[in-house]
Amino acid sequence: MRKISASYIFPISSKPLKHGIIVVSDKGEILDIIDTNGELRETGSIEYYNGILVPGFVNAHCHLELSYMKGLIDKADGLPDFLWQLSQKRRALPGNINEIIKSADDELKFEGIVAVGDISNDDYSFEIKKNSLIYYHTFVEVYWPSSNRANEVFSKAERLFRNLEDLNLPASIVPHTPYSVSPVLFEMVNRHANKHKKIFSIHNQETKSENELFKKHSGAVCDLFEKIGADMSEIKATGLSSLQSVIDYFPTYQNILLIHNIYTEQNDIDFAKSRLKKIYWVLCPNSNLIIENRLPDLNMLVQNNLDMAIGTDSYSSNTKLSILEEIKTISNHYPLLPLEMLLKWATLNGAKALDIENKFGSLKKGKQPGINLITNIDFENMKLTKESKVKKLV
Ligand SMILES: [Zn+2]
Repeated sequence: MRKISASYIFPISSKPLKHGIIVVSDKGEILDIIDTNGELRETGSIEYYNGILVPGFVNAHCHLELSYMKGLIDKADGLPDFLWQLSQKRRALPGNINEIIKSADDELKFEGIVAVGDISNDDYSFEIKKNSLIYYHTFVEVYWPSSNRANEVFSKAERLFRNLEDLNLPASIVPHTPYSVSPVLFEMVNRHANKHKKIFSIHNQETKSENELFKKHSGAVCDLFEKIGADMSEIKATGLSSLQSVIDYFPTYQNILLIHNIYTEQNDIDFAKSRLKKIYWVLCPNSNLIIENRLPDLNMLVQNNLDMAIGTDSYSSNTKLSILEEIKTISNHYPLLPLEMLLKWATLNGAKALDIENKFGSLKKGKQPGINLITNIDFENMKLTKESKVKKLV
């Protein structure tokens, strides 16, 4: 058993405690959270840290298997350019892919991340996930914009899904984006989601031309796919945004993770809320800056009181797999957003999105959420600084 205290504890599910104490078992279970009313007296048996204590981070969007693409692209001129560069520079799978994925898994752990929503297009990462201390929910992702390959693509996804079930790893089959999945393939995904009642995820409005494709059947996304030999004729112009055009393929009552949301507008939010019950708006700010050099309109998202969560995306568009670095970027661009709110996105909301809040996401009696220490805090303004660092304590 350990008793751990710090300048502040942010339990997330309750108010921050100055000099509070967390009592934690050797197995990492929270036994008690003690409010000292700011006065720490008994110090002998207590580990004390200068900084804040928070629950383990939840990374709601990652692609572990793309870790081998680290450093391949350092800047893009928007998503279509990024995807084009990827298609040109994509190396053959390296022989040491397992080692590379293992070291990404180690980095996630080192960064205080305890649970990950991870996209997979293949099975390279499954054994590592199976043996990891991190909880993984795998989103087996399908894409191809014309229906000629729908059966082949979906059969492969079903095989990967069954492999994951055999390994006892939580999994779903999900679409890549609105623009890269044919209506026939969307139907297959929808039927599977409704049958298995699993969490659903999709990359949403990461680039402006995604909306343009559905509004006018033109733009850079459309051009890109035609350039790589895909027939885009089945993706019809609807006059609506991409999200609104495909939302009826999403399961209504399950958790829906919408990833990126850079070009999401108020009418998309209203529309999504009217159709879906449990939406999590996942932000990957560092990836967004590398690919689109732009962040979502966070003021608008916050004003709508949405459930937001945080992801790192993959090494193909990020230099680190660190949730702290993601919320530092948000704090830097949106300094008025309170730290407590950002921490909630980085912990409890991600845990809710992945349906694991019974164990993760907040410092609460009975949970085993992990405990992180964040140092170099600006206590006067209660903000993260450029120098803020995370250390996994439990
Ligand atoms: Zn992604």
